[in-house]
Amino acid sequence: MKIIVTGGAGFIGGNFVHHMVNKYPDYEIINLDLLTYAGNLETLKPVEDKPNYKFVKGDIADRKFIFDLFEKEKPDVIVNFAAESHVDRSITDPESFVRTNVMGTTTLLDACREFGIKRYHQVSTDEVYGDLPLDRPDLFFTEETPLHTSSPYSSSKASADLFVLSYHRTFGTPVTISRCSNNYGPYHFPEKLIPLIISRALADEELPVYGTGENVRDWLHVADHCEAIDLIIHEGREGEIYNVGGHNERTNLEVVKTILKALNKPESLIKYVSDRPGHDRRYAIDPKKLETELGWKPKYTFDTGIEQTIQWYLDNEDWWKHIINGEYQNYFENMYGDR
Ligand code: NAD
Repeated sequence: MKIIVTGGAGFIGGNFVHHMVNKYPDYEIINLDLLTYAGNLETLKPVEDKPNYKFVKGDIADRKFIFDLFEKEKPDVIVNFAAESHVDRSITDPESFVRTNVMGTTTLLDACREFGIKRYHQVSTDEVYGDLPLDRPDLFFTEETPLHTSSPYSSSKASADLFVLSYHRTFGTPVTISRCSNNYGPYHFPEKLIPLIISRALADEELPVYGTGENVRDWLHVADHCEAIDLIIHEGREGEIYNVGGHNERTNLEVVKTILKALNKPESLIKYVSDRPGHDRRYAIDPKKLETELGWKPKYTFDTGIEQTIQWYLDNEDWWKHIINGEYQNYFENMYGDR
């Protein structure tokens, strides 16, 4: 089986490449990534010499490049993680989100039509469902919840999902979609909440928290997410959407305080900053379909997952310090020249 994983130099894609390369030595895993600011080949160091792994630099929205690659590699499965993924950046530059998240997806789908594949899997987000009120803890997102996006990021992801489903209906493309909640774990870019708080708290720097910190997120350990996608590409039904969530709802403030306690740092480091425009209040996933149909179960609770994650950041300071000081961008040139 030959799998192209797009966005495999990013956070979740990188973890997924590790998972697949290690678990399936007889598969060929091709990591296709443009290496934007969020792409970091240092994440792939532990697998880069494995015979079943290969890296290709390229843009999923570059039609000629994608068609040439499909013709050459004849992949069986595509797992599309590549995306502009940071909500704050989508507020300042929405167009790059349309290009990568929407046009990149349709380019990949067209290549799948042209060359034929066994499965196209789209990695999506629970943010396509919008948000839930804070005073209705009984409400959860199911796969039937209507799309109701808040940010340019989630709008671009919802558009991509609609194209994926339409290719299944119109052309019979064998697709699946997963929509997950907030991921955390190793190799997370330090602009995101959990690694930002860990790295700044370790340096005794102020910890920015939006608004009053009451927004609720449903945290999913990235290893549990990778297991879910592995199951869906092998056993999920074509044309179906699967929600992936860890049943681990926490307010942002609870997350920050948990990290401070684990690191033995004072809460006085917390600094409340003005809220993000359109900031979603609560996300909460109902993963029942994935659990009952495919037997998925998360291994981590938030408590065990955050402990593992903090330990990983303590053990891998070089990785995140290279990002903070910009050195990670030299890694590709040093490793691969201008290939
Ligand atoms: P990330 O920003 O860490 O990684 C994205 C990767 O895509 C980077 O390596 C980047 O270089 C690459 N990329 C960007 N534009 C590209 C292009 N045009 N062509 C090829 N590669 C390109 O993102 P992430 O947090 O790992 O998220 C991965 C996927 O999961 C995204 O589709 C995102 O929408 C989705 N998702 C993430 C979360 C989360 O909590 N991180 C939650 C729900 C859904």
